[in-house]
Amino acid sequence: APAETPQVVVDAHGLPYLDPRLPVRKRVADLLGRMSLAEKAGQMTQAERGAMTKPGDIAGYALGSLLSGGGSTPTPNTPAAWAKMIDGFQLRTRATRFQIPLIYGVDAVHGHNNLSGATVLPHNIGIGATRDPSLAYRTGEVTAAEVRATGVPWDFAPCLCVSRDERWGRSYESFGEDPALVQSMETVIQGLQGRANGKDLSRDDKVLATAKHFVGDGGTAYGSSTTGTYTVDQGVTEVTRKQLEDIHLAPFRTAVERGVGTVMPSYSSLDIAGDGKGAVKMHARGDMINGVLKDRMGFDGFVISDWNAIDQLPGDYAAHVRTAVGAGLDMMMVPYSYKDFTATLTDEVKAGRIGEDRVDDAVARILTEKFRLGLFEHPYADTSGAAAIGSGAHREVARRAAAESQVLLKNAGGLLPLKKSEKVYVAGSNADDIGNQTGGWTLTWQGASGNTVPGTTVLQGLRRAGGDVTYSKDASAPTGGYDVGVVVVGETPYAEGVGDVGNGHSLSLSEADQAAVDKVCAAMKCAVLIVSGRPQLVGDRLDGIDALVASWLPGTEGEGVADVLYGRRPFTGQLPVTWPRTEAQLPINVGDASYDPQFPYGWGLTTLTRVPKGGTATLRDLGARAAAAERHGDDRSGRALVTEARLLVQQKAGDHLTEAVAAPFADADHLLLTGRYGKAVEKLAQAYRAA
Ligand code: BGC
Repeated sequence: APAETPQVVVDAHGLPYLDPRLPVRKRVADLLGRMSLAEKAGQMTQAERGAMTKPGDIAGYALGSLLSGGGSTPTPNTPAAWAKMIDGFQLRTRATRFQIPLIYGVDAVHGHNNLSGATVLPHNIGIGATRDPSLAYRTGEVTAAEVRATGVPWDFAPCLCVSRDERWGRSYESFGEDPALVQSMETVIQGLQGRANGKDLSRDDKVLATAKHFVGDGGTAYGSSTTGTYTVDQGVTEVTRKQLEDIHLAPFRTAVERGVGTVMPSYSSLDIAGDGKGAVKMHARGDMINGVLKDRMGFDGFVISDWNAIDQLPGDYAAHVRTAVGAGLDMMMVPYSYKDFTATLTDEVKAGRIGEDRVDDAVARILTEKFRLGLFEHPYADTSGAAAIGSGAHREVARRAAAESQVLLKNAGGLLPLKKSEKVYVAGSNADDIGNQTGGWTLTWQGASGNTVPGTTVLQGLRRAGGDVTYSKDASAPTGGYDVGVVVVGETPYAEGVGDVGNGHSLSLSEADQAAVDKVCAAMKCAVLIVSGRPQLVGDRLDGIDALVASWLPGTEGEGVADVLYGRRPFTGQLPVTWPRTEAQLPINVGDASYDPQFPYGWGLTTLTRVPKGGTATLRDLGARAAAAERHGDDRSGRALVTEARLLVQQKAGDHLTEAVAAPFADADHLLLTGRYGKAVEKLAQAYRAA
């Protein structure tokens, strides 16, 4: 058994791998050539901080990495305590032969969401609704700066899942259902890591990113005979080879091109039609990890397993280890079983059942990222950027993101924006609940309702805007001279699984929410805001609602939501996923043969005041100019022209959405995202004629 006490330190002074002037490649080769098998096995191991009851294990097992799983936070949960905790772990590596620094990882999936007082951004589903790649980039910058300032150099984000079935409890971690939309939001990777592939990583405001979950996590089928259950989120993605390439692999191609440092495989299984393999767990799919990701796409970072995922592989533990390492996993997230993992890996290599060349490849990849992060030169936390945590500047980005993510689905009679002179009656379960507004992965893994993090709720945002606001959570006595009711309903927090379990896994609004909507909308003109991680079924109730807004999970800045409600900023968001009419329609995605949603993918009314005038002739003109912009590679003009055309359609269609309008409208969004501006306007002209 490894020693409990730290090993004797060898003076590594003067060894080539410590020389920052040498190219990373040379430093890696030098260090790798000196390491024992046990030291290599340790580098491939990631343990949970909560398992470090004997911190001597860090040196004893030569561990390569530690993580904080969702909500695994120091006490007190302050930036200084994070830095002190991680430095304390790091200090233990000084007692090893080569003093290889640990790489510490967290899930900062919407800002540094494990830290009290951090800026909590909208979840990805809302970022997808903004259709704004420059904003996605900024969110990456904000997250990276706050995370690195607490001593954490590695973020298990972004999730590049293309969510195809909203019953999946991680739908909100997805930018949307169209791979082109997900790809366009991958600017977040540069925001996190810096612009120069690997070169910026040593900055004190950059972190290593993780593209997850490879591949097909958003494509699992629910209620099918294959999964046979409606309670887990780690199902089977059944696809043709073409669907796999076009829908699920596409975002990973972009991530590799953008130089993402790590990739995490999915818990789900993949079943490719006709390949004869059946449903195989992604952690065992060497054809995908070695074959597609590393060999074909040329991914040169390292692959980190998901939490305990290797335990789900067939066979005994030695088989789990052989399968995972053989499939191309480089580091194993074995939170509490790090001792078993290092011992088994070492034994399997000694017995010749795992090749040492595979181990060398894995370790070389891990060391490469550690060198790039500058960890050998600066192993301890650099907290000089800590003032940015939860700062006004960062909250302003979150507020803008919250505003841009709001999707106005219906606006009868132009009820929104509200006027300051109007008396507003606010009600509903999610009007004044910052916990519900921030969702899962906020302070704890599952998140929680209530007053969990500093920020402003939607109600507080409306009040700060100076509105004449009265509030009653349960909508008691909503009569008495109000001009407008604002009912904020939706989901309570959850992470993974199938979501709002308290609500029977359904996408329907809870009974209390339905009652609040009915009560207020019967008494006065009403705007309904749905704060949720995915679409909620509104059904025929829509007829009685004047204005409907998809608010997603907007984060800590409720003022951003108030900004669009009071018209300080226009509504510009567009649906990142299709909004279904009924549960029976699920899964429903743009491009389906019979596509009859309540609101199509890409839908979103605007309150921009500068809406173009004209009709078909104007659209012809816009089309010609968009095609010219496309030829000249002028994306900015191309996008602007398509937006103008979209506004024309929305103006004419109003709330009368027929399938004939919806389908070409949604197609246009896809064409826009792939830079085909001329064709996008042609599609919009078709929608216009049908309206
Ligand atoms: C999730 C991953 C996450 C990991 C570490 C797992 O349960 O699937 O997305 O990165 O936990 O917290």
